[in-house]
Amino acid sequence: MQPLPSTQPWDEDDGFHEECGVFGVWNATDAAALTALGLHALQHRGQEASGIVALSEPSNFNAHRGLGLVGDIFGDAKVMASLKGRCAVGHNRYATTGETALRNVQPLFADFEFGGLAVAHNGNLTNAAQLKRALVRRGCLFQSTTDSEVFVHLIAISLYSNVVDRLIDALKQVQGAYSLVALHDGALIGARDPLGVRPLVLGRLGAGEGGAYVLASETCALDIVGAEFVRDVEAGEIVIINNDGLRSIKPFGRSQSRFCIFEYIYFARPDSVVEGTPVYETRKRIGSELARESHVAADVVVPVPDSGVPAAMGYASEAGIPFELGIIRNHYVGRTFIEPTDQIRHLGVKLKHSANRPMIEGRRVILVDDSIVRGTTSKKIVEMVRQAGAKEVHMRISSPPTTHSCFYGIDTPEREKLLAANHDVAEMAQIIGADSLAFISLDGMYRALGRPGRDAANPGYCDACFTGDYAIPLTDLTGHPERAPALLAANGQ
Ligand code: AMP
Repeated sequence: MQPLPSTQPWDEDDGFHEECGVFGVWNATDAAALTALGLHALQHRGQEASGIVALSEPSNFNAHRGLGLVGDIFGDAKVMASLKGRCAVGHNRYATTGETALRNVQPLFADFEFGGLAVAHNGNLTNAAQLKRALVRRGCLFQSTTDSEVFVHLIAISLYSNVVDRLIDALKQVQGAYSLVALHDGALIGARDPLGVRPLVLGRLGAGEGGAYVLASETCALDIVGAEFVRDVEAGEIVIINNDGLRSIKPFGRSQSRFCIFEYIYFARPDSVVEGTPVYETRKRIGSELARESHVAADVVVPVPDSGVPAAMGYASEAGIPFELGIIRNHYVGRTFIEPTDQIRHLGVKLKHSANRPMIEGRRVILVDDSIVRGTTSKKIVEMVRQAGAKEVHMRISSPPTTHSCFYGIDTPEREKLLAANHDVAEMAQIIGADSLAFISLDGMYRALGRPGRDAANPGYCDACFTGDYAIPLTDLTGHPERAPALLAANGQ
């Protein structure tokens, strides 16, 4: 049993740092098995917990949720046999500072006037605490500490009669980033926030009338189930899929989309294509730009695996310096961020990487990684490469300095823990122990994405972690809702 929720679970820094993967399928044999496969392909988006809710005729919902990896949770034939039906939604959770409790594992499910509804959410809401306070005052009983539960209560209290109108009503009150998949007995629904910060793609499984629809965070999850990519769900779009086909609505009006640029840098899987742009090629192009911007004489380019590999390939070919796997990664440990304390995270770097001495000894080494957050990884890696006999160590980072925290669904620590928020590049080089350190410029990153540079009036991407340009109000943080949610108004606030 997990401890019961406190009465004010979110007012502090609890449960907000979630990056997740979502998947949904409508009208396919073994929908739950397809969902488990999809979640497996999206494992990089969340390793803490997973869940699947399947729907069998006429409206029986069966759910299974667990803590751990998809393969461990859904590798059990009995579990899979219990998830009957032709429709399902699933979720992978990644919450590094939030509570690791089964009650936080999605998809969330609730019985409403209109029947059951399962909801899986990727992203982060920036006015969830404020909405929650108002909802609790109205008598809503929260069961979890995840911000996503706000959707469920907003849908429950909506006065609209049908599910889609209730969902729109709820979405109009939330601020933040979300890609949602929801399932009720009449439809599979996909929705992206008005700025389209988090990804969501639509796929088709099997040709013709009887074909199934699939929704997933990334195209790599379509590939694993053999689904054909149809298109991205657009920013601010809601797609409603049922036996009559697909209906699209855009209830929010037009706004300039701000897809998360960090998905290209680190988060998305390299074999995914997001917003029409292949992640792997983008990372290579970022590496080439980086080489043009920050050339240094060296004997070998070494990626910090796995995140630095494509950028290092681009760097090496542009610089004309040999690429070598000078660091080997042990794949049987999780990402360093998963471990909660600084001490363990520190150890985790050694568990995860080891130097491939013959590729390093006596050489001038350029190390390429995707980002420096706290600096823990870079410091350890530089030290390890020096111990392996490198003559010089030059660190190159395929993103601009991470100077600001993300509030839209990528886990970044508070600003005071961000190395780049507190030190200039020369100081950072000294702290990590490198002979030189360089980051790609903001304009260079945009050039790699096919733009002339960053257009401040319309960047086209959310790059708040590098610029502090937060396009969505941070209401819970600042206490100032730029949009007054109807609910708060109704409560006299
Ligand atoms: P740090 O050791 O704190 O500087 O973290 C930098 C390392 O963490 C880099 O190797 C990145 O690949 C990785 N990283 C960056 N952002 C994230 C994130 N949001 N979640 C997990 N790992 C990350």
